[in-house]
Amino acid sequence: MGHSIREFEEGYEVGRRLLAFRSECGFVTATWGLVCPRCGVRDLAELPLSGEGRIAAFTVQTVPSEEFVNDAPYAYVTVDLPEGGRITGWMAGVRTEEELSIGDSVHFAPGYRRGVQFERGSGASRRD
Ligand SMILES: [Zn+2]
Repeated sequence: MGHSIREFEEGYEVGRRLLAFRSECGFVTATWGLVCPRCGVRDLAELPLSGEGRIAAFTVQTVPSEEFVNDAPYAYVTVDLPEGGRITGWMAGVRTEEELSIGDSVHFAPGYRRGVQFERGSGASRRD
């Protein structure tokens, strides 16, 4: 199964599409790589993601990078994926650490800017 750096940049990095990869050994990662870090196999298969997840860790950024200067404060989040593995991203509109908790449901919500953006709640609850 083929996947290219260009596809990765156009999908994952731009934030329009979530990609993860699964190795024959079952290892799942949303981090780009050509080789499984656990068993060394080179044939990683694309794994479709639901876009759902739960917060595994987060921090509120009040001193942003240049690109996010108009969005601060915001949360930088590490999200556990139901498909396995974790992915990092950000959530707009989070001003204090009291607004989020470990285990909160979030969903992938492509925004107007680059990066993997999440919003609160499950994607299913948002579409009702
Ligand atoms: Zn492996």
